[in-house]
Amino acid sequence: MKITLNSDIQSSDNLSIINGQHNDSEPVGIKVAAIDESLLLHQTVDILLAGNTDTKCEVELTGTCLQYRYRDNRLKDKCKIIYVVDIIGCSVSDATDESKVVLNIIAYRIRRGRRKRKSVKLVFSGYGSRDHNYEEAIKWKRTIMSLNYGPYGITGHGRHKPLMFIVNPKSGRGRALKIFEDFVKPLLKESETLYELQITDHANHALELMRDTDDLTRYRAVVVVSGDGLLYEVVNGLTKRMDTITEERLPVTLGIIPGGSGNGLAHSVNQAFLNHQKAVDSIYDCVLHVLQGHPLPMDLVRVTTEQNVYFSFLSLGWGLMADIDIESERLRALGEPRFTIYALYRSFALRKNRARLSYLPTQTDSSDVPVLAEPVGKDWVTIDDQFIQIYASYQSHINSTAIFAPEATLDDGIIWLLFLRSKVSRRQVIQFLLALEKGRHPALPYVDFVPVRAFRIEPYNNIGKMTVDGELVESGPIQAEVVPRMATILTR
Ligand code: ADP
Ligand code: MG
Repeated sequence: MKITLNSDIQSSDNLSIINGQHNDSEPVGIKVAAIDESLLLHQTVDILLAGNTDTKCEVELTGTCLQYRYRDNRLKDKCKIIYVVDIIGCSVSDATDESKVVLNIIAYRIRRGRRKRKSVKLVFSGYGSRDHNYEEAIKWKRTIMSLNYGPYGITGHGRHKPLMFIVNPKSGRGRALKIFEDFVKPLLKESETLYELQITDHANHALELMRDTDDLTRYRAVVVVSGDGLLYEVVNGLTKRMDTITEERLPVTLGIIPGGSGNGLAHSVNQAFLNHQKAVDSIYDCVLHVLQGHPLPMDLVRVTTEQNVYFSFLSLGWGLMADIDIESERLRALGEPRFTIYALYRSFALRKNRARLSYLPTQTDSSDVPVLAEPVGKDWVTIDDQFIQIYASYQSHINSTAIFAPEATLDDGIIWLLFLRSKVSRRQVIQFLLALEKGRHPALPYVDFVPVRAFRIEPYNNIGKMTVDGELVESGPIQAEVVPRMATILTR
């Protein structure tokens, strides 16, 4: 479906993509969930232009677009469009002239591959009294807000509850707090979103908060501004609460805004929304997910070792890529490129480790997952070999540059298991790492890539590093099993 535009449009902003189709060379775009062309509101008002001049303006609102036409200072006819999904909020205020009322509509539109703030100021003056003009402006505000925030507008969809933001000032290059101040806080105000802010002051702080905060149902969601490591703390703090253990569901919805050096989940959420297009602006896109989103179900994976149980939303690794996750920490100051740079270095010094790998393919009917101490069932496949690595993910992206499981969705119930056996050469490992950036590695003949429900690694020694969501865990026998839809995450 395409939006049809009136033929008298002379200049149109932000028309780079309509329902997935580009009309110019802009590389990326937004998904317009449902095109709704029915006219909701129509009005002749004044528009405030630069230099504080105002001029007559025809405005139309449909379920999809705000369209406005006016003659600019140089007497050129203009017709502009703003997609409703890009509108973050509206404010209504009195103009300097007594009876006039200004409706300020604020959007974050895509311009040349980035989101830019745009404010459109419409002046309501045609109703004589100030109160009538005010009522009319409020009607526009309510209608616009209800399109993005549900029928109750600013208080709909649980928006009377605050979001809890957790910011890690030490994540990535230490930019998370600045990202919160510059990219999140202004939009919280513009969207009239209630929130509380927690800044971590030590590792494990987020885990403690999630484990120990009394009533989490007070919050609409817990939103992490950091890398995957902090969300891992949040998830594992939540699963240590008594209320989660009995219900097998996290007691609060999650949200993610990328602020770290490993931002796999943020990119996977963007991918889920964009449906195979590239994200426009990963930070702003994620802010829009958090502010306009609804809780969508997401699988977690229960990871069991001989000593511990962890809950994972992203990955489990042993060998090459686990080593890269951990050893590239020393390049933290580089930000996300640390993974690629260290990966190339490590492929010249390949390590191999022997293990027994067992997995339960998705194709079998069985869902029999024994405890780690018991042998696996007959539907499981077992391979005994030397491995360069075994790596699994349940999300499409494991960081901004690695599309690990191109077909993965947030709640498909699948663990994508990848292994490189000892026969794989150094040249092939480099080829694999390069293919991973485009998600083309599943086609490589020497890469084993299988959808499974559960798997187990039993290493012959405890030398190789093991990681869960990029964080180091103890080496030794380890088992992973999908827990379908155990979490929910804010997604548009
Ligand atoms: P990155 O993607 O850059 O690694 P993460 O969100 O994964 O960012 O955070 C890295 C680590 O920082 C996490 O393991 C977390 O435990 C730790 N951490 C959180 N808050 C603090 C803090 N205030 N000081 C030091 N470390 C912290
Ligand atoms: Mg991390």
